Amino acid sequence: MANKLPREDSVVVDIKDGILFGPTAKRPLGENEYLGSCHCNSVTWIAKLDVAEHVLCHCRTCQQLGGGPYSCNQIVPKEALKILTGSPKVYTYTGASGKPVQCFYCGNCTSHIYHYQAVMPDKIIIRTLLLNGGPEMPATGEIFGEGRLNWVRELQENLTNGTKKSK
Ligand SMILES: [Zn+2]
Ligand SMILES: [Zn+2]
Repeated sequence: MANKLPREDSVVVDIKDGILFGPTAKRPLGENEYLGSCHCNSVTWIAKLDVAEHVLCHCRTCQQLGGGPYSCNQIVPKEALKILTGSPKVYTYTGASGKPVQCFYCGNCTSHIYHYQAVMPDKIIIRTLLLNGGPEMPATGEIFGEGRLNWVRELQENLTNGTKKSK
C-alpha cells in the first residue's frame, strides 16, 4: 500500500444485508440496550452494550469514511445489534490484508452504522456515538493510536483505561 497511514486490516466472509439481524421487530429497550439512529432517522436500531463506553479508532479508513479525526466504536457480538427500521446499504472496500471489508450505512443520509470483519466472525463493530446517550459515554480506549493526529494528542491523558500509551 502506498499510503503509510494505518488502515483497518480486516477480512470479511460472505454476508448478506439484513441476514444477521433477523426480522424487523419493535420491542422495548432492555437492560443495557441503547436506541440508535442515523441522521435522517430512516435506519434505527438497538444495540446492547455490556459497558457504555467508546473505543476510539484513529485509522485512516475511519478518518476518510467519517470525515473526523477518529471514530467512536465498540466491538460487540453480532447478536447485540438489532435493526428496527430501514435497511442499511453496504460499502465494500479492500483492507490492508487484501480482503474486503463491509461497511453498513444509511443509503439516504450516509451515516455509518457498523461494519463486519471475518477475523472476528461472531462480532461486529458499531459506531457508539450514534446511540442515544452516546455523547455522555466516556472514551476508555483507542486503537491505531499511531494515526492519532497531533492536535488530538490530549486524548491520551483523558482515556480512562490502560490502553493509553505512556510517553
Ligand atoms: Zn439516514
Ligand atoms: Zn478505524
